[in-house]
Amino acid sequence: MSLDHRLLDLAVCPVCKGPLQAQRDAQNRLVELQCPADRLGFAVRDGIPILLESEARNLDAPSPALAGPG
Ligand SMILES: [Zn+2]
Repeated sequence: MSLDHRLLDLAVCPVCKGPLQAQRDAQNRLVELQCPADRLGFAVRDGIPILLESEARNLDAPSPALAGPG
């Protein structure tokens, strides 16, 4: 829990250096960090946020789960 918080304190958007909003799943696990300013979502893998613009998804784009494979 505390590790999460430390991680989030350090986590800023690599594009605008602004604060990121943590998205959690039903088990309260960190799943994504989102930049509301850039409309970017940064995936979290094994608890480590992938803070790369090239890896970010567009929050305004349809969800892959809804859009289907591809
Ligand atoms: Zn940003």
